[in-house]
Amino acid sequence: MTRAPAEPYRTSFDATVAAIDGRNVSLSETYFYAESGGQPADRGTLGGTSVVDVQKRDGDVVHALETDPEFEEGEEIRGQVDEEFRTYCMRSHTASHVIYGAGRLILDDLGYGGFDIGEEKIRVDFQTSTDIDDGVLVELERLTNRAVWDSLPVSWESVPKEEALAREDIAFNTKTEEGVLSGSDTVRVVDVEGWDVAACGGTHVENTREIGPVTIVDRSNPGEGMTRVEFAVGPPAIRTRADEKRSALEAARIAGTGVEDLPDEIDRLTGEIDALEIELADAKSRLVGATIDELAEETVARNGHEWLVGTIDGVGPNELSDRVRELAGETADVVALTGKEGSTFLVVGTDGDVEAGDVVDEVTAEFGGGGGGSPTFAQGGGLSADPDDVVAYLRD
Ligand SMILES: [Zn+2]
Repeated sequence: MTRAPAEPYRTSFDATVAAIDGRNVSLSETYFYAESGGQPADRGTLGGTSVVDVQKRDGDVVHALETDPEFEEGEEIRGQVDEEFRTYCMRSHTASHVIYGAGRLILDDLGYGGFDIGEEKIRVDFQTSTDIDDGVLVELERLTNRAVWDSLPVSWESVPKEEALAREDIAFNTKTEEGVLSGSDTVRVVDVEGWDVAACGGTHVENTREIGPVTIVDRSNPGEGMTRVEFAVGPPAIRTRADEKRSALEAARIAGTGVEDLPDEIDRLTGEIDALEIELADAKSRLVGATIDELAEETVARNGHEWLVGTIDGVGPNELSDRVRELAGETADVVALTGKEGSTFLVVGTDGDVEAGDVVDEVTAEFGGGGGGSPTFAQGGGLSADPDDVVAYLRD
């Protein structure tokens, strides 16, 4: 058994080497935390040699060393747990209890989904019917930091398994406490006073204020009815918050308003953009109409049919297609309009006597590009000529 969960602040100890198998070492007792239920293994040294992994194996705690040990079985050696990483894990782990406790206050049908401590962030999976939107996320963060500020005592004790299972207020992290549940008739219960109670075998701080600032960094949905909330503590938490504040202030400065008025201002601006887009489309449409009216005055006769041929500026082929369909067979037998959108394009509509596809083929044979369509409507694009040159060719 590891003594780490019971005495998490102790990072230095002496112990007798119980067994050595290559680079794997077990001790008479250890304060190294063995990887379990989302909390990574402690780092540190044994007898001066780096510990790269710690795992539970058949009830034993096995320390994997980076190099061959320079000590023997039966020898007394010094164990040194990496304090910085241990502290990070204690703070992260306790923070996960506090954020779960915050969830108890605002999430419906709450159940525990999972937990994991990473190098930069920690995740907690909430099983809940509540839609964890941005507002809920902000509230979870606010409540968590409030509980940190309120300096709630955190304690842990072993209670009889039956008693723990009977208590409805205890959240079960089925992975972390599995070692405690199986092969034992007691469960380790971690109590954040007045905030959260959970069965858990990890390492925790004794008071929530030791956690420091907590920042939620991400949210995702790993499965039906499950929301994964990722948060950071310590430097990544502080950095994330500073980055967000910097962005918010910069956006407010550009928008010429304060951060609190930013949502209203962006709402107003997007409304304005929508209105302008409608106005612009309307103006374009009127411009196209006027140009077509002018072109209708100067149709040409070609192969015994009346052709309306010309260039339209500022609109693409898709915006012209309906108009060309309407005009073909009405204003002229053949309507062929060119324009530029990236490259030069051609839109052709006919009354059916002239094949629209043939017109496009003729033009692409002359100027390159490609296209096609039905007998009465066709498009060509990628022409390597100016729209006016294509018009001059067709008017010829
Ligand atoms: Zn825990």
